[in-house]
Amino acid sequence: MNSYKHILLAVDFFEQCDPVIHRAQELAARYQAKLSIVHVVDSLPITDAGYGADIPFNLDLTAELMANAKTRLATLAKQLAIADNDQWLEMGSPKTEIIRIAIENKVDLIIVGSHGRHGLALLLGSTANGVLHYAPCDVLAVRLQDTQ
Ligand code: AMP
Repeated sequence: MNSYKHILLAVDFFEQCDPVIHRAQELAARYQAKLSIVHVVDSLPITDAGYGADIPFNLDLTAELMANAKTRLATLAKQLAIADNDQWLEMGSPKTEIIRIAIENKVDLIIVGSHGRHGLALLLGSTANGVLHYAPCDVLAVRLQDTQ
């Protein structure tokens, strides 16, 4: 049977992400694998669809988002006993950054939620879908129920 050695948990910190975290914890324990986490602060500009105007990210807001994300990531890492150098806080496109971190760190299993903030519009959310298509390794999409 396949034995995973390095599992990467991609966490978006939306309300429903607990089952994804628990599954990653459970599988890391079962395979005695290293567990890393990644969160990506999306760098896409906010678009006001109603008026068709792009509101660019201002630098202060970006710094604040990164600072908040860093705190949340550190809290989760502590809870999961993940070392500092196995926590990844990135900025950019979530799927691109998740794949990059997986390749650079020889991850052999990526764990994502079936959908997050993009909701159930897609059976697999856009990040989950992108990761599944481009991952160099196995991907587990933990099925999340819609709460809306
Ligand atoms: P989505 O495709 O946005 O519906 O999200 C599906 C899953 O992709 C989430 O449950 C997370 O596991 C992962 N994901 C989405 N956005 C991010 C992000 N910004 N950083 C890390 N993981 C993410």
